[in-house]
Amino acid sequence: MDLHQFKQDVIDYAHQIGIDSIGFTTADPFDELKQKLVDYHSKGYASGFEESDIQLRTEPKLSLPTARSIIAIAVGYPNKLKGAPRSRRGDRRGMFARASWGQDYHNLMRKRLDKLAEYIEERVPDVEMKSMVDTGVLSDRAVAERAGLGYTGRNGFVINPDLGTWTYLGEMLVSIPFPPDDPLIDSCGDCTMCVDRCPTGALVGNGQLNAQKCISFLTQTKGYLQDEYRYKIGNRLYGCDTCQQVCPRNRGINTQHDDIVLEPEILKPRLVPLLKMSNREFKNNYGHLAGAWRGKKPIQRNAIIALAHFKEETAIPDLQEVALTDPRPMIRGTAYWAIGQILGDEAKLFIEDHYNEEIEEVQQEMLKGLEMGRN
Ligand code: SF4
Ligand code: SF4
Repeated sequence: MDLHQFKQDVIDYAHQIGIDSIGFTTADPFDELKQKLVDYHSKGYASGFEESDIQLRTEPKLSLPTARSIIAIAVGYPNKLKGAPRSRRGDRRGMFARASWGQDYHNLMRKRLDKLAEYIEERVPDVEMKSMVDTGVLSDRAVAERAGLGYTGRNGFVINPDLGTWTYLGEMLVSIPFPPDDPLIDSCGDCTMCVDRCPTGALVGNGQLNAQKCISFLTQTKGYLQDEYRYKIGNRLYGCDTCQQVCPRNRGINTQHDDIVLEPEILKPRLVPLLKMSNREFKNNYGHLAGAWRGKKPIQRNAIIALAHFKEETAIPDLQEVALTDPRPMIRGTAYWAIGQILGDEAKLFIEDHYNEEIEEVQQEMLKGLEMGRN
């Protein structure tokens, strides 16, 4: 079989099924990544969401022993929300990060990878393949980079010449020895915009990210948000796009696909209705977004913090109701904190009135709310 021709056929087919960029690499171990991951973990930068077994992450053949190649794919996603509702005083809104716009991208990518696998299997019936998207064990970014889809910028994202950083990445291990592509030789040059503009200093400067400081990770945690970050997350409900928005390599790029349907009211939702949303409402309205994977609690916590960020006094009655009635201590505590932030000294009476009804962890937030209040 002419593998060069077959590779070209796979590339052509990929473009027909909505894959914007495709590259090929060997199934050799990712030795450089191994050292980086050891370093990353020892510095305490890991988010804890990624696969912790470094061998599995860096040795493709542990996932598919017959693997000879890896096909890396990228699908661009939009970064502009047409008809986005305005966030105004009295009607404040939060924001989902762009990677979470449209239906959960894991499904979207899986469909494309499945089609690609079917196409390859028609030509080589005994082929062995294994697809991965984000939650797979390999590093999507390391695979994409080695397969020539782009270079890793200082913001840690793979920068593709046509798609910028606004891409979903996925890969497929294949038992066919396709001719590999060369990695792209490029760099950020003198630019440090993403490092300079990151609100929490989470970018270390060499493309490495301290996930423990990154708002994108912090919006997904389930407990109390550490004090130092409460005024940094702004109105972000899920994820953070700042280091991509400022990147000059993204200028003029806004990739669209028919199966990425944008719902402005959902992606930039009113904050107050989120506070008391039932599980069913959450599932119906947000369940299809990638940003829903941690459940409604982190999103509700972030909505409360966003109301404090806006000093939204009209939300006080709703925040008081949440503080008095929500069964989850973390949500009550954050609501008391937000009330203190918004009302300052005026919150004293309400907080003092209910102080003795609360458990210790919530009491701590009540005190913090008053201490850190605006007065
Ligand atoms: S996602 Fe946000 S917090 Fe995280 S590194 Fe980028 S700018 Fe910083
Ligand atoms: S903002 Fe500048 S430094 Fe950061 S990834 Fe983009 S080009 Fe590189």
